Amino acid sequence: MPEYAQESFVAAPRPVAPAPRTDFLPFAPPTLGEEEIAEVVDTLRSGWLSTGPKTLRFEQDFAGAIGAETGLALSSCTAGLHLALMALGIQPGDEVITTPYTFCATANVIEHMGAKTILADVQPDTLNIDPACVEAAVSGNTRAIIVVHLGGHPVDLDEIRAIAAPRGIPIVHDAAHALPAHYRGEVIGSGTELTAFSFYATKNLTTAEGGMLVGDPEMVERARVLSHHGMSRDSWQRYSRSGNWYYEVVEAGFKCNMTDIQASLGLWQLKRLPGFHRRRGEVAAAYTAAFARHPALEPPASRPYVGHGWHLYVLRLRPEALRIGRDGFLEELAGRNIGASVHFIPIHMHPYYRNRYGWAEGDFPVAADSYHRALSLPLHPGLSVQDVQDVIGTVLGIVEDNSA
Ligand SMILES: *Cc1c(COP(=O)(O)O)cnc(C)c1O
Repeated sequence: MPEYAQESFVAAPRPVAPAPRTDFLPFAPPTLGEEEIAEVVDTLRSGWLSTGPKTLRFEQDFAGAIGAETGLALSSCTAGLHLALMALGIQPGDEVITTPYTFCATANVIEHMGAKTILADVQPDTLNIDPACVEAAVSGNTRAIIVVHLGGHPVDLDEIRAIAAPRGIPIVHDAAHALPAHYRGEVIGSGTELTAFSFYATKNLTTAEGGMLVGDPEMVERARVLSHHGMSRDSWQRYSRSGNWYYEVVEAGFKCNMTDIQASLGLWQLKRLPGFHRRRGEVAAAYTAAFARHPALEPPASRPYVGHGWHLYVLRLRPEALRIGRDGFLEELAGRNIGASVHFIPIHMHPYYRNRYGWAEGDFPVAADSYHRALSLPLHPGLSVQDVQDVIGTVLGIVEDNSA
């Protein structure tokens, strides 16, 4: 079944000064097999395209795979985070604490609720929200904390829970990168804290677009109603043979359910996930073996008590050792046919948030400093040993050509 590369890195020769790649190496293409394609075709021929039996099965399989009690498949992770805040009853004016070092969706959903985004700076090594900064940011108006397991490295949950639990503040997980990941033996998403995963095209498991909300079953069921206009029965319950036409709108909900076409991809992607994850870890280990202890490079951290999801490989440059900056480095990579990206432009540096909260770059200095030095290297299960050697050789070559 697996179409992704299977060769071992162990037998591979060490990278030498490489000839530049002649073809472009994409940053994060999806890894799809014939089974996904056949399942989509089967759905197209089935007469049922929207939320139905395959979405239901995907929810059950997904929850089973991570040890969650129940799952709610959605159109995106963003929808999952939004519904989580809805289910928690966040009100206009409430404060929600999150990290500046994340994708805009994490903070946008706070704004959608009319709540106030409160940022807490990140740890220099993991780039995850720093419990000490959360402690300083918490107030009598704090109604939730959204943690982001950046790149797939779990947040220090013991410390965050020690702050949140005595004050009765719920924790919501943006687990867009954390599939699969574990913290001190606890699989992310296996508890009762509301947790949203992303199945966007570049993520560890893709349904093209999509997401899954897991956590406390009552909260998830409340989110399920909200995901379908606040209707008391979804269309599968109404239009299937055993269905009934009657429904009632019990809340002014949204429309962010997953379709069976998307779930068709998810069912097979989920079966491939363990192999995908193993391969991602191997690629990351090969990168880190090559870049560790290099004076110009700072590989991503992986603390000993976590199981890393390895969604991203965020490499930071040490500007004092180089004559070019991060932007120049990215241009060099593109010129040498290696796709790369930047994760993330911190929340407080985007115009909307700057204008709304009057934030300056230096207000969250660790996030801002990391942003200026960070780039993400290709990390996906389709990378061959040669691809990985090309990336390593190219990065080391650019460093050598541009050493201070
Ligand atoms: C991708 C991503 C999201 C949003 O996921 P969607 O499924 O596209 O809504 C949220 N948070 C983080 C950290 C992400 O990387």
